Amino acid sequence: MKKDVKSKRDQKQDEAWKKIPPKQGEPLTKKVGKKEWHWCEHHMAYTIHKPADCCLGKDQAIKANMQAKAAIKEEDDDSTNYVKALLASINAANDDNDK
Ligand SMILES: [Zn+2]
Repeated sequence: MKKDVKSKRDQKQDEAWKKIPPKQGEPLTKKVGKKEWHWCEHHMAYTIHKPADCCLGKDQAIKANMQAKAAIKEEDDDSTNYVKALLASINAANDDNDK
């Protein structure tokens, strides 16, 4: 019974340090117990996986990629419309000058 209480308290302490991000200049990996822990920016916690192997990170990378592509597409459309409008106004101005 005593052992159970102790392990529960240890578990809480375990959770606490995992949520504390490494300070600037500190390594993102640290060895605690027998395991190596990696600071995962996606989980905002120390995890046994590397950020590169993070399932959240992969999802976010895909989403970010899609958003970036969507943003580029929108930008293209906007600039095309802008150029068209600009050309139209130049043509209109030229027409006026010719007459
Ligand atoms: Zn993660």
